Amino acid sequence: MADMKLVVVGAAGRMGRSLIGAVTAAAGCTISAAVERPGSPAVGTDAGLLAGIGELGVTVTDDALQAFVDADGVLDFTTPASTVQFAEYAAQARIVHVIGTTGCTAEDEAKIDAAARHAVVVKSGNMSLGVNLLAGLARKAAAALDEDFDIEVLEMHHRHKVDAPSGTALLLGEALAAGRGVDLAAASVRVRDGHTGPRLPGSIGFATLRGGSVVGEHTVIFAGEGERIALSHSAEDRSIFARGGVKAALWARGRKPGRYTMADVLGLSD
Ligand code: NAP
Repeated sequence: MADMKLVVVGAAGRMGRSLIGAVTAAAGCTISAAVERPGSPAVGTDAGLLAGIGELGVTVTDDALQAFVDADGVLDFTTPASTVQFAEYAAQARIVHVIGTTGCTAEDEAKIDAAARHAVVVKSGNMSLGVNLLAGLARKAAAALDEDFDIEVLEMHHRHKVDAPSGTALLLGEALAAGRGVDLAAASVRVRDGHTGPRLPGSIGFATLRGGSVVGEHTVIFAGEGERIALSHSAEDRSIFARGGVKAALWARGRKPGRYTMADVLGLSD
């Protein structure tokens, strides 16, 4: 089979540059285009030079639709507004759309669902193997431990991150809620400030730290009477997400349109 032709959108971003390196290093795929938004200083530059891996002969373009029509898949770690637009284009082109973008609203998700009638969408708040394994363990632990164990999710990210809690914290929250058999939206406590009163039994709490260059730290805490269990994951390098994104694209090639998760890609869904 010919190499899978992949488009990297948001090519000049932190993840975009890492994705260009990951696609170039992986077997079975090649970069067919790199896209940035109109007006970006990166448009017209070489994608490889942008990523710091030497010239690739792929010039960054702002014509996303044309890039999608000529490709088999797109790797998208950008912003919710652009991801919704890219989902529409990926549906028109009937290609694979790997979405790592976090912070999407329920309305954005509904638009991505609609696009997934024609595109093969793999979306995950975290594309790393380790975090998806952590989610599976957290779900099992939440099912085994009753409400006597309070659940808290703690995360820390670099100072540039604009959404909170992180997509990964929410992914872990969903796994914990599934384990407990509750609805995350109803059970979660995302902010505490002032006189909060005692902790609500059965709630799932989130705490957010921001600072420096931290790539991603997540800990799920089960706090019981006299004992505490903590499950943690540390991301040391964002290339783990980029490699996961490429793996997702290769897995999705040739599958039926629809929505898939990283757990599907890694064979961790049960
Ligand atoms: P970033 O450095 O700000 O990169 C985003 C890039 O997308 C920027 O270069 C931005 O360009 C570009 N962009 C925005 N709108 C665009 C459009 N319409 N067309 C083309 N390009 C566009 O952010 P990042 O740290 O790479 O993170 C990106 C997203 O990935 C965030 O949502 C983050 O939370 C998420 N993330 C997910 C995972 C995962 O495993 N799922 C891992 C890491 C990060 P301008 O700056 O010029 O607007």
